[in-house]
Amino acid sequence: MNSNTVMPKKKFGQNFLKDEAVLHKIIQSMPNNANKIVEIGPGLGDLTKYLVDVKSVEAFEVDTDLCKILQKKFKKEIDTKQFHLNCGDVLNVWKSSLDGHLIDEPYDLVANLPYYIATNIILKALADPMCKNILVMTQLEVAEKFCAEVGKKIFGSLGIITQSVGKARIVAQVPPTAFEPPPKIDSAVFLIQKEKDRSDRDFENMLRVAFTQPRKTLMKNLSSKYEKAKLLEVFEELNLILTIRPHQVNTKDYHQLYNKII
Ligand code: SAM
Repeated sequence: MNSNTVMPKKKFGQNFLKDEAVLHKIIQSMPNNANKIVEIGPGLGDLTKYLVDVKSVEAFEVDTDLCKILQKKFKKEIDTKQFHLNCGDVLNVWKSSLDGHLIDEPYDLVANLPYYIATNIILKALADPMCKNILVMTQLEVAEKFCAEVGKKIFGSLGIITQSVGKARIVAQVPPTAFEPPPKIDSAVFLIQKEKDRSDRDFENMLRVAFTQPRKTLMKNLSSKYEKAKLLEVFEELNLILTIRPHQVNTKDYHQLYNKII
């Protein structure tokens, strides 16, 4: 089997990025540092071939047919240790890691992610102390959620978790025609520059309660789990009006709320 005869597998989210301008945009947007690159889902190696030119790459690919193609295509880089390929499900590697490290050295995640598990992968990378920056392609709506600012209807747990660890911005919007086969939805590349690791799980549990019914008031959502009298006191202290909706409260206030009600 070679890359011209490969049939894309829907179950693995295989939409191969063919647009050279987008590939270059990803390479140009990479943070300038000495970190290793982790690529999840190198596919046919269209992005990989540019990545290995600038840095050493540790890749994770679940599809054994693609692994065989990649091993041939990047034989030279494998021999010189510029490229190392792990064949298997990346989520299993994270699951079996005791300390939550995907690899044991600082890395930047650069990838056109499989969309069906993109959110899960990004949350794992945010929690992984070895991951320093995340530059990934996902479906546009997911990218917008991670990069959302307070006040936008789409601002929710993903935006707050991201702002709790660093800064995020959309680098490029990408139409379906950039891929082979084209997906049904628009995509986007975005960059998260981490300044610290993902906030603790109890804080994220509070966010889950805060956004149970996103269009209801924050007070209504939170009082389903936390004591109402305490909430009234804390809302007053933080100058939060009682009719405020969950997407209208900024990340700093969510942390203050958490510290005062837990
Ligand atoms: N990077 C290539 C590109 O840009 O053309 C392919 C991107 S394609 C959207 C997603 C890739 O992730 C596919 O190669 C797919 O086989 C791989 N993949 C899907 N699920 C995976 C998993 N659980 N672990 C590792 N790779 C996975």
